[in-house]
Amino acid sequence: MKYYNSEIETMPIEELRALQNTRLSSLVKRVYNNVPFYKNQFDSIGLNPNDIQSVEDLHKIPFTKKTDLRDNYPYKMFATPMEDIRRIHASSGTTGKPTVVGYTQNDLNVFDEVIARSLVCAGAQPEMKLHNAYGYGLFTGGLGIHGGATKLGMAVIPVSGGMTERQLTILEDFAPEVICCTPSYAQTLSEAFAKRGFDTKKLSLKYAILGAEPWTDAIREQVETGLNVTATNIYGLSEIIGPGVSQEDFEEKGTGCYIWEDHFYPEVVDRETGKPLPYGEEGVLVLTTLKKEAFPVLRYWTNDICSINYDKNAKRTHIKMSPIKGRADDMLIIRGVNLFHTQVEEVIHQIDSLSPNYRLIVEKKGVMDTVTVEVETIKGILLENPDLIKDITKRIKNSIGLSMKVDLKMPNSMPMSEGGKFKRIIDKRKL
Ligand code: ADP
Repeated sequence: MKYYNSEIETMPIEELRALQNTRLSSLVKRVYNNVPFYKNQFDSIGLNPNDIQSVEDLHKIPFTKKTDLRDNYPYKMFATPMEDIRRIHASSGTTGKPTVVGYTQNDLNVFDEVIARSLVCAGAQPEMKLHNAYGYGLFTGGLGIHGGATKLGMAVIPVSGGMTERQLTILEDFAPEVICCTPSYAQTLSEAFAKRGFDTKKLSLKYAILGAEPWTDAIREQVETGLNVTATNIYGLSEIIGPGVSQEDFEEKGTGCYIWEDHFYPEVVDRETGKPLPYGEEGVLVLTTLKKEAFPVLRYWTNDICSINYDKNAKRTHIKMSPIKGRADDMLIIRGVNLFHTQVEEVIHQIDSLSPNYRLIVEKKGVMDTVTVEVETIKGILLENPDLIKDITKRIKNSIGLSMKVDLKMPNSMPMSEGGKFKRIIDKRKL
C-alpha cells in the first residue's frame, strides 16, 4: 500500500486548489454565522463573508491568535452546539493556560483520516502493531494517533508515556513494528536499551514516528541507530486538529513534511509584519482548517517557524513544510542575535564525540546575556578536553555568530524525557 488515499494525496494542484476554494468559502460563511468572535472580527473591518471566494482572498482576513482562543475560553470559539460535540481536548499548555478544542463525529473522522494517511506515509501498514507512547488524555497525541491507527487497521498498543522499563519489555515482547512518541522520549528509550546491553536489532521495530517538539537530524541519527528504525517527523497542534497536520514520507526523509492540504491550508508570513512570504522563505506558519465543524479556525497564527514549498520530485502533490526551527516565542535574542536551540543541535550533530543530549542554560551576567551549552559526550571521551571544547565553541561561533560557554557532561547524566515535551532551554533570566 503506497498511499492511504491516493486520489487525494496525488490530486493535481489545480483540482486541489478548486477543492480548497469551495471548502474555504463555505467555511467562512459558517464561522461568520456561528462564532461571534469571527462575526465581530469581520464586521469591525467591514469584511463580508462573500468577499472570500478563494485562497487568494485569505490575506484580507486578520489572524486568529492564541490570545483570541484564551479570551474565548473554554467554548466560545465552538461553531456547533454542544450536543454535536463528541470529544474535547486541550493543548498541553506548554506556553500558558491550555486552549480547549472540540470535535464533532465528522471532525473525529477527519482526524482519523489524516492520521491514517500520516502513518502510511511514515511506512506503517494495516497488518502492523503500533506502540503508541504519546500521552493519552487531554493532549491530542495519544487518542489522535490511536484513532487513525485503528482506522488504518493496525493493532494499537496504548502504552502512553512514562514507565520506561515497562516500555522496553513491551517493545521486546509485544513485537510492534511501529512506535509513535516524542523524539526526546525515543532518545530515552534508545539509551535505556543501550544501558541494558540489549541489541535492538532483535526488536521487530521498523518505523518511528516522532513529533510534538522540534528535532533535527542529530536526534534522527541517534534514534535510527539506537532503535534500529527509520524515523520520520509528524507535526500538528491541537488548535488545528492535533498530530497529523503534516507528515514526512519514509522514502523522502529530509525533504520536509506533507501538509494535508485538502484539510489544512498553509501560509507562511513574516513574523514582524504578518505579510505573506513567498514559498521557500522562513516565517510563521499560519493555518486555516478547511473542513472542521466544531472548532474551525481562519488564519491561525501557529507561532511555529518554518518554510513551505512544493517538491516536484515527490510522490504526492501536497505542499511540504520544513522542520520547525522553534516557536517564535522560544526564539532567544542573545546580544542582538536570534537563536533557536535547534541551531545548536545542528552544530552538535557535526561532532562525533558528542551525543544529541543537550540543553541551553541562559543567564544574565551583569548586563550580558550568556548561554551555556550543556552537552553529553559519547563513552570514552574525556570531560577535561580543551581541544574539544575549543572546537565546539568555534563551530558555534562560525555558524550562529555567538560565543557560548560549553560544559561537557558524562554520557547518560543529563535529565531525560519521560514521554512529554522536553525542555531544551533553561532561561534563568525568567526564573
Ligand atoms: P502546546 O502549544 O500547549 O504545546 P500542543 O500539544 O497542541 O500544545 O502542541 C503543539 C505544538 O507542538 C506546535 O505548535 C509546535 O510548536 C510543537 N510541535 C508539534 N509537532 C512538532 C514537530 N514535529 N516539530 C516541531 N514542533 C512540533
